[in-house]
Parts: sequence; structure tokens; C-alpha cells
Amino acid sequence: MNDPAQNLLDVKDKIEKAVETSARVSDPVTLVAVSKVHDRSRIEPVLKAGHRVFGENRVQEAQQKWPALKSDYDGVELHLIGPLQTNKVKEAVALFDVIQTLDREKLARKLASEMATQDRSLKLFIQVNTGEEAQKAGVFPKDVDTFVALCRDQLELQIEGLMCIPPVDEEPALHFMLLEKMAKRNNIKNLSMGMSADFEAAIAFGASHVRVGTAIFGERSPI
Ligand SMILES: *Cc1c(COP(=O)(O)O)cnc(C)c1O
Repeated sequence: MNDPAQNLLDVKDKIEKAVETSARVSDPVTLVAVSKVHDRSRIEPVLKAGHRVFGENRVQEAQQKWPALKSDYDGVELHLIGPLQTNKVKEAVALFDVIQTLDREKLARKLASEMATQDRSLKLFIQVNTGEEAQKAGVFPKDVDTFVALCRDQLELQIEGLMCIPPVDEEPALHFMLLEKMAKRNNIKNLSMGMSADFEAAIAFGASHVRVGTAIFGERSPI
């Protein structure tokens, strides 16, 4: 359990089994290894094992770790999975390849103009607050269709997927189902849902991306 590379293999194995038993016909599942809080010594074994897709939740922390790792290892795809302030958009566009937490018009406008300025095209996921929790980021379910249309029609942004973080005290399956429904009716193909505790269930409900931290890197000590 204290070997991230071995844990990676175990998680990949579980993903494969979940894909087999879910009778899904869609594309393979992308494992986003969530390396927040962990330093280079924990991340490198996973890179050395050949894994290239990682998630971080803070722009500043990612800026300290990833430019060096990206230059040492080819083909890294870095996902931002935490809230993005508009005053960090410039740095985020320069470093990340995927933003999973697009959740408001102001941010969408800023991302559109910054990607044009830097001539970089990031993949964007809209975060949906499926549990309508006050403390959590994300577009409310009732506003998703309008927000998707705004991003596509007015800002000409390509929306690659939807992302959710279900409330801790509720059955995640209900939230996974809801997200799947919203994606389908908006013709969005990717679903980022499922973490260490529930990624297999998420795959059964159609996840294309699972975000797994603890099961790979171990418990995060509080900072
Ligand atoms: C930390 C985090 C994860 C990973 O959670 P684990 O339970 O450690 O797998 C997934 N998604 C988001 C948005 C996170 O912040």
C-alpha cells in the first residue's frame, strides 16, 4: 500500500474489471491520478511506471511541481480538478491541459480569451454541483443546458465533458446517473466522476474519467 506504482497497477486492474462487468461499449476509462499534496518522490514512481495523466486541485501547488516533471517526462496530461479563480487563469492555461472545473460565465470568457492569447487549446469539462451544496463549486443541474449553450454558441468553446463531486453523505450512484443524463441530452461525451471510494460504481454508470488519489498515493496528511 505504500508503493504508488504497485497501487497504480491495482487500481488499473480494478478499472479493467469494472469495465468488463459494466457491459459498456464506450471508449476506455481514463485514470486521472490525483497527486495533490504529494511531492515529486511520490509522483515519480507513477511516471516511471508509464502513467501520464495526473490531477491537481491548486494552480499554485501545481506550478511548483509540474513544470519540472513535464520537462523530464514526455506526454504528461495535467488536469485541474479544483476551483479556478479568474486571476489564476493565465497560469492555469499555460500549465494545464484539461480544466475540469469550468463553472461560471466569467471564467468561461476569461478562458476563451486567454487560450486565444496563448494559442493553447485546453480541453474543458463543466463542473456540475449535482447535490446543490452551498459550499461546493459547480453549475446547478437546472442551469447546465443554458451554460453549455452559452459556452458553445457565444464563446465557441468546445465542451469535452461534465464533472461532479457527489455529496459525501449521499448515495453517489444517484449523482452519477444525473450527470450521465445531462451529458447525454447535451451531446457531451465524457463524464468525470468517481474517486478512490467509488470509481468502480462510477464506471458502471458510464464514467469516462475517474479521479483517484488516495488509492494510488495513500492518505493525504493534513497541511
Ligand atoms: C482530491 C480529489 C479527488 C481524489 O480523491 P480520493 O478520494 O483521494 O481518490 C478527486 N476529485 C477531486 C475534485 C479531488 O479534489
